[in-house]
Amino acid sequence: MKKLLLTCSFVLLAGLSSLSAQTQLVAHRGFWDREGSAQNSIASLVASHEVHAYGSELDVIITADGIPVVHHDDEVQGMRIEDTSYEQIKDIQLQNGEVIPTFESYLQKFTTLPDMKLVVEIKPHKRVVNEDRAVNAVVALIEKYQLENRVDYISFSMNICKELADRVPYASVAYLNGEVSPADLKRLGMDMDYHYKAFEKNPTWIQEAKELGVKVNVWTVNDPALMQSLMDQGVDFITTDKPLEFNKLKAE
Ligand code: MG
Repeated sequence: MKKLLLTCSFVLLAGLSSLSAQTQLVAHRGFWDREGSAQNSIASLVASHEVHAYGSELDVIITADGIPVVHHDDEVQGMRIEDTSYEQIKDIQLQNGEVIPTFESYLQKFTTLPDMKLVVEIKPHKRVVNEDRAVNAVVALIEKYQLENRVDYISFSMNICKELADRVPYASVAYLNGEVSPADLKRLGMDMDYHYKAFEKNPTWIQEAKELGVKVNVWTVNDPALMQSLMDQGVDFITTDKPLEFNKLKAE
């Protein structure tokens, strides 16, 4: 009996460790939590590469004159980006002294960083027509630099996700807003990138998604205990502000 128990726990542990081995790191807004970096800066993209992230996440919004820029908030210095020309915001500095990067300048740096993906979040825009312009401009730039197989897409906007699923069926498009079931995402041709609380509310979803072949990413997980628990459940990706904590757990 003792032997059987030992065997069972060994199998269980081996199962857990093989599950956690599959979870990959996505650096949220790049790796910004260190000297000289800043959220959504080119320095944060380079730093993600240095910590061997699977992917570096970034946020994209389109300006009124059609330039996709890398920025999280829809406003900067009181100006709504989608209603503002690039000229008016181009010299605004991030916390590390860089100016707000254009998405194209981000891609140009990204082409020099092999073996990492870009996880491109296209932000919801106030006007649907601007969401469509953002999708078109982002996809056109990715095609220009022939980076189609190095980009995953995410969005809180179902409109943007649907446009992307239609436009780039070869890429992973994951929905962020947390309320659509794995089966419905499967029907829509989308993956799942939800806040961890969505899985506390729907504890069967990780397993259901795995069975359906829907990829599971969880944001924004900074607590090592939660990271470990999600790794043990075999989620595909963890998006975090703390990539070094993630790497420490993976190394254990
Ligand atoms: Mg984001």
